[in-house]
Amino acid sequence: MTAIGDSKLFKKRLGDFGVNVYQGCEHGCRFCYAPAQPGVRAQPFWKGKSQADWGTVFMPRPGLLDALVDELRTFTPAAAQKKATPWGEGRILVSFLCDPYQPLELKEQNTRRVLEALLEAGHKVRIQTRSDLVMRDFELLAKYPAQVRLGTSLPHLNDELSAVLEPKAPSPSKRLIMLNEASKLGIPVYVAIAPFMPFHTVTVLDEVVQAILPLKPTEIFCEPLNPKGHAVEMVLAAIAERYPAEAALIHSYDDAAWAQWTYKLLAFGVSKYADKGFIAWPDTGRAWAKHLSGPEAAFLEQFLPPSTVADNPKQNEGGKSLTPGKKAWVTMRKKYTPDQIHQRASAAAKKAHQTMRRKLTTKSTRGAANLQKPR
Ligand code: SF4
Repeated sequence: MTAIGDSKLFKKRLGDFGVNVYQGCEHGCRFCYAPAQPGVRAQPFWKGKSQADWGTVFMPRPGLLDALVDELRTFTPAAAQKKATPWGEGRILVSFLCDPYQPLELKEQNTRRVLEALLEAGHKVRIQTRSDLVMRDFELLAKYPAQVRLGTSLPHLNDELSAVLEPKAPSPSKRLIMLNEASKLGIPVYVAIAPFMPFHTVTVLDEVVQAILPLKPTEIFCEPLNPKGHAVEMVLAAIAERYPAEAALIHSYDDAAWAQWTYKLLAFGVSKYADKGFIAWPDTGRAWAKHLSGPEAAFLEQFLPPSTVADNPKQNEGGKSLTPGKKAWVTMRKKYTPDQIHQRASAAAKKAHQTMRRKLTTKSTRGAANLQKPR
């Protein structure tokens, strides 16, 4: 087995490598698309299971710690830097197909052992968790502020809604307290506003950002609900009874509305918070591209690592197989300098922000969520 795997996480600026401490995730979040990823689907522990079973099977990875010790003999920080991308910084993400601080960790302590080994070896790590159980290891993390980034997902600050969608994860309130405590100890923190729900307005985005800004986060990632696998159906099934209006709104989104909503949400975030570390996470599969105008798609494209298209525009000049977004990107690369592209994208984002401010209609439903209709 391999403990430290190469990964495509750099596409989200999370790291270049990843360690999944556990198989499966006890938190069982209804929107989780980990079970739709090849890294889970191919595993024997998941054989015969469906996405609806996520959260029911979870266990330590056999042999992980021995494999890690073995790999660290040759996988030094220098070796990591040789393979590092500018987007991933040679960082190791713990974890990406499970939560490293799911309840199982309380007994097993494998995440703690993995972190001890990686940090002592001098590696840069990013810890991604929805749990405040990580506070148990603050003493360790505080010893390595230059190597550690600790983050949590805060899709909103509504504990009631979280109990429905993230049934076994500690509440957003607890996660926020955890980040505050980490920050007090000098541990660098970040937040992932993920997944942002289609029935939430930008007011919810503002609330989360305002809650985290005093901690001076290293990054504020934001990802709209990713419809990979059966994530949307799972969310709908979870909220149907308690939040029928929100479920109806998600039902009303076709692919084009989904793409427009993605663009407007991320453009809003970038225009308002880019200088505070806001990083947009459009879906790397670019399903949105064919539903957006060239400039809109090019705007989202800039948040993805340069594809072969962007790197080698000549190679793609025929352009027959390119999506509108990629075509727009190739055109812009020929026409403008990177600075000019950035200025144009910022102007487009500001315009989208102003338009949204003007047009946004909101209403509250059971105090749980504000609704936003796609336009
Ligand atoms: S905590 Fe993360 S990995 Fe676990 S179920 Fe939730 S989203 Fe998926």
